[in-house]
Amino acid sequence: MRRRGFLAAGVAALVTGCVGDTPPGTAPTPAPTAPPAATGPADWRALERGLAGRLIRPGDEAYEEARRLYIPRFDRIRPAGIAYCAGPEDVRECIAFARRRRLPLAVRCGGHGYAGWSTGTGLVIDVSAMDDVRTEDGRAVVGAGLRLIDLQERLAEDGAAVPTGTCPTVGIAGLALGGGLGVTARRYGLTCDALEAVQVVTADGRILECDARREPDLFWACRGGGGGNFGVATSFVFRTYPAEEVFTCTLGWPWRHAARVIAAWQSWAPNAPDELWSSLRLATEPSAAEPTLELTGVSFDDPGPQLERLAAAVRADPSRRVVRRRPYLTAMREMGGCSGEDCRRRGTLPGTRPDGRYPRTEYTAKSHVALRPLPVPAIETLVGAFTEGNRVTGRSVLLDALGGAVGRVRPEDTAFPHRRGLFTVQYIADTGDRRWLRRLHAAMEPHVGGAAYVNYADPELRDWRRAYYGANYARLAGVKRAYDPERLFSFPQSIG
Ligand SMILES: Cc1cc2nc3c(=O)[nH]c(=O)nc-3n(C[C@H](O)[C@H](O)[C@H](O)COP(=O)(O)OP(=O)(O)OC[C@H]3O[C@@H](n4cnc5c(N)ncnc54)[C@H](O)[C@@H]3O)c2cc1C
Repeated sequence: MRRRGFLAAGVAALVTGCVGDTPPGTAPTPAPTAPPAATGPADWRALERGLAGRLIRPGDEAYEEARRLYIPRFDRIRPAGIAYCAGPEDVRECIAFARRRRLPLAVRCGGHGYAGWSTGTGLVIDVSAMDDVRTEDGRAVVGAGLRLIDLQERLAEDGAAVPTGTCPTVGIAGLALGGGLGVTARRYGLTCDALEAVQVVTADGRILECDARREPDLFWACRGGGGGNFGVATSFVFRTYPAEEVFTCTLGWPWRHAARVIAAWQSWAPNAPDELWSSLRLATEPSAAEPTLELTGVSFDDPGPQLERLAAAVRADPSRRVVRRRPYLTAMREMGGCSGEDCRRRGTLPGTRPDGRYPRTEYTAKSHVALRPLPVPAIETLVGAFTEGNRVTGRSVLLDALGGAVGRVRPEDTAFPHRRGLFTVQYIADTGDRRWLRRLHAAMEPHVGGAAYVNYADPELRDWRRAYYGANYARLAGVKRAYDPERLFSFPQSIG
């Protein structure tokens, strides 16, 4: 997970984890229907017989593994059944079963959602077993259940790539449906910008092929409207790009330059050439006297001249500077903080590997999308949040550059509205320290508030409709009414 893992401290620094207090609204809510009908073992056996994939129930050997999401604080949730659907027909079967039995339904891919809304107490539809990849004529047809690392590796075999996020175990479905920000976004756009078609099973059991001509509104909503809202995506068609060699770079400065680096970075990074993406990370460093201040970048060209421009604007040379040329896949793994089997989660079920070693973490975050540069008081707030609390483990802020290709799409062209954003700001507490997060988020709100990225779901966000979707919300609500009028797909921040 580049957002943290890329950072030299490596994955070890991310593994810190303790259970935080649970924010309001994290428990998935059932669809607003009548109370569940009694569902006995015979009903579940009937469902199992109707599936080509595997159904796992409490008491089954694989249940403990099957019910876990990426974030351990949701381990307390115990679904009545988890269906590893083999294809869209299985999904249709599960939807019909949940409707008939009036069971809460959750849809799951990589299980990385921040709020735990891809599990629940009823039936979980898991798409991980749908993991085929086929490339042809500059396109990839991709099963909706792939983890990002599997997608990257399979495409790289054909010299191809799709813009993705960086955490290797995130699922392509959750990522693409909410947008998809990553290290190639300034050059190639968001994951959802590369999406040309999607197959969706809707609440009424139809298997729909959606693209710019067929079901265009649903297709539009699937490009940034957020997972779990409109139906179950079962496959995607992406436009691919060549998996070119890239440069990766890491720069560090002494903490005393923090304010100047943030000020210079925020003018430089969103306006750099499309080829260059970068992220600035501020983090506590309890083992050292001062916090860490580090830039990570990926560039399709030699970034040297651009990095010099930044250093000149900061008026201080970095104390650490590493620039390396890398094959594409090596760079993606590096950004994910891993190199091989350590890029995967351990397990025996779809989406995992028996020798996987990627750690789960207590990822707790809040965020903003900055639509204008941070004013001086906001920069002082950020710097102060670390200077005062450097002895506390697991606090960080990530500023990830937008602009470039992301900004050349109009806000209304896809459901992802933040096209004019300069960068995202993520406040992260790997220890689940919500108090620090709340304080910092609230202190930044007057300077940078108003917009947030749906894939960084925040159950505590009050005005989430406006923050996630801006002016696109009304059209999204219309799509919801058209495709899921009874709100079968429902969670605390679902549309409609
Ligand atoms: C460590 C970490 C690193 C991250 N890095 C990035 C990053 O670099 N860039 C970025 O943009 N985001 C990043 N994210 C955020 C990530 O994109 C979202 O959490 C995303 O929703 C996760 O998708 P998932 O499939 O793994 O999760 P899930 O929890 O399985 O799903 C997330 C949501 O999508 C729904 N959903 C899942 N599958 C389907 C489907 N087939 N059809 C319809 N709805 C579905 C779920 O119901 C849920 O509401 C990161 C998250 C974490 C925890």
